[in-house]
Amino acid sequence: MENDPIDAWRQLKTHLESLRRAGLLDVPVGTWDPSDFVEPVARFEAEHEPETILTEVVATVEPSVRIPIKPLETDLIPEVVERKPAPAPNRSARPVRPPAPPVSSMFGTYLKAFENPVTPQNDRLPILKLLAAEVAACERCPELASTRTQTVFDSGTPTARLMFIGEAPGEDEDLQGEPFVGRAGKLVTDMLTKGMGLSRSEVYIANVLKCRPPENRVPTNPEMANCVGYLDRQIDIVRPEFICLLGKTAVTALLQSALPMKSLRQRWFRYRNIPTMVTYHPAYLLRSPSFKKEAWEDLKMLMKEMGIVPPAN
Ligand code: SF4
Repeated sequence: MENDPIDAWRQLKTHLESLRRAGLLDVPVGTWDPSDFVEPVARFEAEHEPETILTEVVATVEPSVRIPIKPLETDLIPEVVERKPAPAPNRSARPVRPPAPPVSSMFGTYLKAFENPVTPQNDRLPILKLLAAEVAACERCPELASTRTQTVFDSGTPTARLMFIGEAPGEDEDLQGEPFVGRAGKLVTDMLTKGMGLSRSEVYIANVLKCRPPENRVPTNPEMANCVGYLDRQIDIVRPEFICLLGKTAVTALLQSALPMKSLRQRWFRYRNIPTMVTYHPAYLLRSPSFKKEAWEDLKMLMKEMGIVPPAN
């Protein structure tokens, strides 16, 4: 049955599921229950020609596995990279879907996202600076690119054990070019220093979006899709031991979950094979201070896993 697409599909799904359970794939939690595979297999067998089935598999799997926008160009550092503009798309041409690759190369494609070697600590800052320069010239979201004061890339150390990921720059961040400044930023600093006994310079902080949405509106799905590849590359360069997602936008963009916050807190996920947890966005805590107690419980869970003893008050 080596060439049977249905059998290949079963093997692919089983293999991906085992990889996810082993922590080697950042497939969103909850989407790979093996019992979910039984009915779709029967349906595809009944409704599709065998040769179309692998194409459907690709469409099913691809959105669940995040692959960096492009590989890191570590061999070009520290030279300035001259980038050729991409050729203009031919809008009159009909989109042609590429044929499904053979199963063996599909495994290779998905696993490629996790083949990046660990970036040596001394190389991380110059590589991040190159990436920040690329982001500063980005105009993928025309509205944001035309209204931003500047892009907001990161703060903290590229050798951090812990990475915080928020939503997008606000007005203060847009003006100062640094994530989490202003009132929400002060709360983050307090959470770190008073709660965890860490300084801001000991962690790495970034947002899903690098540009401020006008009037601080919630980022749209296309904007998140445009920008999240930059964040993935930041994560791959820094390789923190732990990730803390601040608020729903970061959850939506990275974990692709629509569950309410109360169902996401106090649990561990894996994103890009890194233990990842979720708590409230500081701006939300400023609007709803009664949830600070729950946020503190989340930080305590994080500190326990990191082996951090809370500072004595
Ligand atoms: S939000 Fe991100 S993808 Fe969109 S224009 Fe800014 S840097 Fe580019």
